[in-house]
Amino acid sequence: MIVAVDGPAGSGKGTVTKMIEKELGFLNLDTGATYRCVALEALRRGLTLQDEEQIIEVANKIDIKINNVGDKDIVLLNDEDVTEKIRTKEVTAIVSQISSIVPVREKMVEVQRKLAIGKDVIVEGRDIGTVVFPNAEVKIYLDASEEVRAKRRYEENLQKGINTTYEEVLENVKMRDYNDMHKKVGALKKTQDSIVIDSTDLTIDEVVKKIENIICEKS
Ligand code: C5P
Repeated sequence: MIVAVDGPAGSGKGTVTKMIEKELGFLNLDTGATYRCVALEALRRGLTLQDEEQIIEVANKIDIKINNVGDKDIVLLNDEDVTEKIRTKEVTAIVSQISSIVPVREKMVEVQRKLAIGKDVIVEGRDIGTVVFPNAEVKIYLDASEEVRAKRRYEENLQKGINTTYEEVLENVKMRDYNDMHKKVGALKKTQDSIVIDSTDLTIDEVVKKIENIICEKS
């Protein structure tokens, strides 16, 4: 079974899909992590957003694995654990532009489909219900107000020791929303068959329950 969860940055996708992974035994696939790996490797090679050809080469050459170990998802870039390194400010600042490069998307969609083969998966991203798994049995579009999403990301950053201000995070959320919704390919959008959940005034547990009920109805 494939459950697609799309939505903008900070809408709660990561948190709720990890909880559902634990409770229902699905594999949680964070597709944003694949684009973050490309961004990290591009930064390490000193590339800028103008170096499209080299970024495409990076996307085609790197090896990405996501291993579920206990209740953690370990992201491996060429067999190096980069789970934390792909969450830095520097990576977050360029990842949506990197993911707008069409050949990078084509390659990452291929990688994401391979990572899900033969498993019950709950896949989070921006284009899961539209491009990666258009035949997913369940499609959720998770939303929340810009301010609430920025506040969540800001608090997450504080916990992880990433030094940012709320204003900085809000700016980044707005910029990524704009980029993600205006991509030529793989733009973030609601589909006719997606169920919209607005998490602005909901607790994490309430969102998880709602999604689990939808999954149970379909299975
Ligand atoms: O989900 P996360 O915020 O980690 O994703 C990082 C970036 O990767 C997003 O801002 C978006 O630009 C891109 N992305 C995407 N398609 C996906 C998942 C993420 O374009 N399916």
